[in-house]
Amino acid sequence: MGIYQDVFKHWNLNHVINACGTKTGIGASRVRQPVIEAVASILSEFVSIDQLQARASQVISRIIGTEAGCVTACSASALTTGVAATITGSDLAAIEKMPDCGTRQNRVAIQMGHMINYGAPIPQAIRLSGAELIPLGTAALCEVYHLEEALLEGLASAVYVVSHHTVREGELPMDLFIETCHRYKTPVIVDMASEYDMKTPVELGADLVIYSGHKFMCGTTSGIAAGNRRIVQATYLQNRGIGRVMKVGKESIVGALAALELWSEMDHTGQLHAEQKILDLWTERLKNQSGLSLSLHQDWTGNPITRLKLSVDPAEAALYAWELSGRLAGRKPAIIVRDDLAEKGCLFLDPCNLNKDEAQLVADAVIEELNKANQELPDKRLTWSAVKRHRSLDPLKWPTDD
Ligand SMILES: *Cc1c(COP(=O)(O)O)cnc(C)c1O
Repeated sequence: MGIYQDVFKHWNLNHVINACGTKTGIGASRVRQPVIEAVASILSEFVSIDQLQARASQVISRIIGTEAGCVTACSASALTTGVAATITGSDLAAIEKMPDCGTRQNRVAIQMGHMINYGAPIPQAIRLSGAELIPLGTAALCEVYHLEEALLEGLASAVYVVSHHTVREGELPMDLFIETCHRYKTPVIVDMASEYDMKTPVELGADLVIYSGHKFMCGTTSGIAAGNRRIVQATYLQNRGIGRVMKVGKESIVGALAALELWSEMDHTGQLHAEQKILDLWTERLKNQSGLSLSLHQDWTGNPITRLKLSVDPAEAALYAWELSGRLAGRKPAIIVRDDLAEKGCLFLDPCNLNKDEAQLVADAVIEELNKANQELPDKRLTWSAVKRHRSLDPLKWPTDD
């Protein structure tokens, strides 16, 4: 066995059990064997990247139904280069000058409620191109007249985001947003990085749609930009300019394409059944834990994912939801649960990246941590404000030795 056969051992890394779904900070998703083979087959070879990306365009068009497509380093870079494309078009001289837009139209609009953070802020990914950001409406309200005002003053493009992070009420629906922009001949870029739905934005005429190659598709780190020929070409050409600092290599292009093909032919029903079995197992194991109440929860944006919601009653469970997720994350192996609503007293267990043995370990760990907390003194408890403060200081501890 080669020394790199087990990098966890070689570099002393902690194993992580993923009960939270796809998350960049823990390695996104589990790359499947055929994708690993595809990537392995290109790594030691040479290939024309232009040809590989032209094949990518064919595969993406066939599966997503757009005129063209290309693979980018990730969804965030697809957004930056896609926005740049709407400023420069295919003008090579302009592409080399970016992010300096000269006298070109560089205003790019986005609803305020779509200005989310997926690990970094979306407004920044837009502005990195050289665009001037035009926020529409207020935090939880955007009307057509907000969009029309921006369109009347002139826009290079408008960005629409679909994500569980966006504000859920008061926003313009995608059809109305695209239809309004198109009345003013303004292209729309739809960021669907973590969505399964490949039909809706294309049917509604989105000019560029962005998917992540490493989220639900389980590919290598990559983004997929699919859309009309002109804007995809201009997006690809950004590799001669700002796209260079977010370069995608042959291995990521091949990994994204293999993952997309596999995903389009996958037995999604079989996958759902496997996930249901894990949800059943968790429900059975956790249903009688005092302080926990369980319910099944459908994904916010309509992805076909069901998660187990654990509502933690701090009086009975002897700890808060955020403490439970923190303790699970501190174990070896670390168990990462979905805790973006922890401040509301609930956690979610996501079955999509787990096998049955790991699912058992998750249930064991939850029970163990609840039992441990029960035997501790109540004065050790961490308030939400304390956790919030710690979390903002945590990034500054890197690099750590543990
Ligand atoms: C995850 C995510 C991104 C960033 O995706 P990467 O491929 O990791 O760059 C961008 N937008 C949305 C809506 C996301 O969910």
